[in-house]
Parts: sequence; structure tokens; C-alpha cells
Amino acid sequence: MSAYIENIYQQLNEKLGHESEFLQAVGEFLDAVEPVMAAHPEYEDLAVLERITAPERVIIFRVPWMDDQGKIHVNTGYRVQFSSLNGPYKGGLRFHPTVNLSILKFLGFEQIFKNILTGLPIGGGKGGADFDPKGKSDNEIMRFCQSFMTELSKHIAPDLDVPAGDIGVGGREIGFLYGQYKRLRQADRGILTGKPLISGGSLIRPEATGFGLVYFLTHMLAEAGQDLKGKKVIISGSGNVAYFAARKVEELGGIVVSMSDSQGAIYEDKGIDLDVIKAIKVDSYGRIKEYLETYPEANYQEGSVWNLDMVADIALPCATQNEVDEIAVARLAKGGVEFIAEGANMPLTSAAAKAAKNHGIVYAPGKAANAGGVAVSALEMSQNSMRLSWSREEVDQQLQDIMADIFKACLAASQAYDFDHDYAKGADIAAFEKVVELMQIQGLV
Ligand code: GLU
Repeated sequence: MSAYIENIYQQLNEKLGHESEFLQAVGEFLDAVEPVMAAHPEYEDLAVLERITAPERVIIFRVPWMDDQGKIHVNTGYRVQFSSLNGPYKGGLRFHPTVNLSILKFLGFEQIFKNILTGLPIGGGKGGADFDPKGKSDNEIMRFCQSFMTELSKHIAPDLDVPAGDIGVGGREIGFLYGQYKRLRQADRGILTGKPLISGGSLIRPEATGFGLVYFLTHMLAEAGQDLKGKKVIISGSGNVAYFAARKVEELGGIVVSMSDSQGAIYEDKGIDLDVIKAIKVDSYGRIKEYLETYPEANYQEGSVWNLDMVADIALPCATQNEVDEIAVARLAKGGVEFIAEGANMPLTSAAAKAAKNHGIVYAPGKAANAGGVAVSALEMSQNSMRLSWSREEVDQQLQDIMADIFKACLAASQAYDFDHDYAKGADIAAFEKVVELMQIQGLV
């Protein structure tokens, strides 16, 4: 790292040393854009790095709610409005007990670059609460969502900040949040994305992150002279992203050999029955272990999927941040994995990302490979503004075009700075160049 960039990192570290996930995301970004800063000494005077690493605004609020027994609980709600350079703040809401400011700042920070890469006019934001939806009744979820939105509604608007889902926030939660917003403010469909279809949602939005991930993967494979046919694919997670990635892998001739949840993993060398995964994890809120009820002979292991020795060509981590460490990467390389594309946000630790490179694994970062979800969210905003809806084919075609463009931008930026085929550096550089351009156009913002 150059002395200048080292200094910026040090200052952030002194101020925010406890925000480990945020510092990790910033550290990887600073490392990637170093050659751009070296080529443009004038950017230092513009303080571009100091400005882009500080959120425009952070809102923290109390969320009181009552459970089915009449007991009152209090959670903490957040919205990080990171950057509006490229349009209204855009990014999901995460409901998970691990949610804290560091995690939401890292997610909001990554969202700036991801959203810019889509080529659509959306800024970066993220929010959520340290609320655990697991084991809660529908009524409890509804009351929590209503209380959360009662406060959040004061800070969002269709041209200001448009939240969507993330971990723990799917169609059910978005439906409740949207209903409450309408009771409080002027009804507008453009206030949230990821809405249920009947309530102003877009076709393909539930599938978009997973499908987009696999579209990105097909470009990585093609660039290496390969395709998905007959390839074995490890997928972690079994939520929306993982499930629809698995479906698209299968559709394009690949074999999904593993899927998981926070308690355990299924490993089936001959391929997993995705209809069973759908029934237990997508249509209801079950555990992946229930796969054994249909296939008692299937291989199930408690703990992380990344602890298993598996033979595969491709790994798609689709669960959560820092799920894959450098030991897991070495294990994947030993099992034959040549490609890793991130469906989750930052599922590889910094050491894991370096290890992937050292093992010759072609690696794509979430901010490029999983951008399909937010891209179709932006298409949902367009449809809401026009008061019409596009067909499945139309949205899917736009998603494919967007993922192809993101891939091209990452590849071109990696080549322009001699990081040939380093898609992680390429994604950061391509997005950063647009950030700087926007900063220059908009003056001191
Ligand atoms: N949570 C998703 C992401 O990480 C989607 C956000 C959105 O659609 O606004 O990109």
C-alpha cells in the first residue's frame, strides 16, 4: 500500500477499529484502487477516498414490539444512507441477531459500487435490525415490521431511499413493511422493492440475485473456454439467492452437489433434488436436515458446508459474510474447484480471497456477481414509476444484459491496470472510476 492509502486506512482503523467488517471491506477496496490513485495524483486533493468511506448519514432507532404472549421486546433498527452520488440510496434490510453498525456499514459501502456497476441510477444504502425472525409467528413478524416501519418511514421516500430485502427479509416482511408505510404516508409503490408481485413487485425479482450470479459465472467460464455442462457446483445457503442459483445451474446443465443452512449441509455427488429444497426451505421455514426425510441415504453433516471434503469444479458461497476462510479455500482447491463466485456479500475473508488467487482459482466478488438482485430492484422502480409491468422474458433479458455489461466492465478494468482477470480488483476499479467522475461533476458533496 502507498503511504497515502496506508495513512487513510490507519486513520479509519484508529477511529473505527471495532468495526471489523467495515474495515475489511474498506481495506480490500483501498488495496484495489491504489493504482488508480497512483495514476491520478490530483484525486488526493479531492479527498475522494476520505469522502467515499464516510457514510452521508446513519440513522439508529428503537424498535419496541410485543410478542404473542404480551411480552414487550426492544430491538435496534438502522438505516445507513451511504452515498447518493448515483441516485436515491438503495439497498436491502437485514433482520438477523448479528446485525450491528459495522455489518451494515460494510454492506452499505459495497452497495455503492455494486449499484454503480449495474449502470442504473441508484446510490448505496443498507439497513436492518438485530431482530431474529427465526421461530417467530407471522403475527410477531408483522408487529415487528410495523414498529420498524413506523420509524423508518420518517427517513425514506421513493426519490430519497428505497429499501428492499436481505437476510431475514423476504416477500412476507416486505409486504408487512409496505402495508405499514401506506398507513403512515402517501401510498407509493416505489417506496420499497422486492414487493410481492400482486402488490407492485417485479417478475424475476425473487430469482434475480441467483440467476444473475449464474449469468455472471457463465461469462467467467466462457472467458476460460469452458461452460457449465456437467460441472459440479457447491452452493452454500438455501435461501432465495442459493435456491435460484441452484435452479439456473441445473437449467444450464450443471450439477448442484451441495446446499446448506446455518445448522448443516447436504452433500450429494449425484446432485441434489431441488424440489425438496424448495418444499422445505423456500415454501416453508424448515431446516435442510429435513432433506433426509425424503432421501434418508443422503449425506448430511452438522456445521459449515465448508468443512466438508467435496469434489467439485465451482463454489458459489450464497450464505453470509466471512463464511469461507483460507483453510476452506485450500480444501476447495484440493477438491478440484477452479471458480468461485460470491452470491452473498463478502462471504470470503480477505485471507480467503488471497488464497483463492494463490491457488489459481478464478474469483468474482459479490459486488459484481450478485448485483442482479439490486439491478432488478431498480427495474422494479422503473416499472412502478411507469405504472406498468414487464414480462418475465423482458426482465430476464435486461438482467442478462446487465450481468454481461458488469462482467465486461470488470474484465476491462482489470486489464487496464494489469490485474488481468482479477475480477475483484476490476469491479472496484470500474466502480471507483465512476464514483470519482460523479464527484467531479457534482462538486464538493
Ligand atoms: N440485499 C440485496 C443486495 O445485497 C438487494 C438489495 C436491493 O434490492 O435493494 O444487493
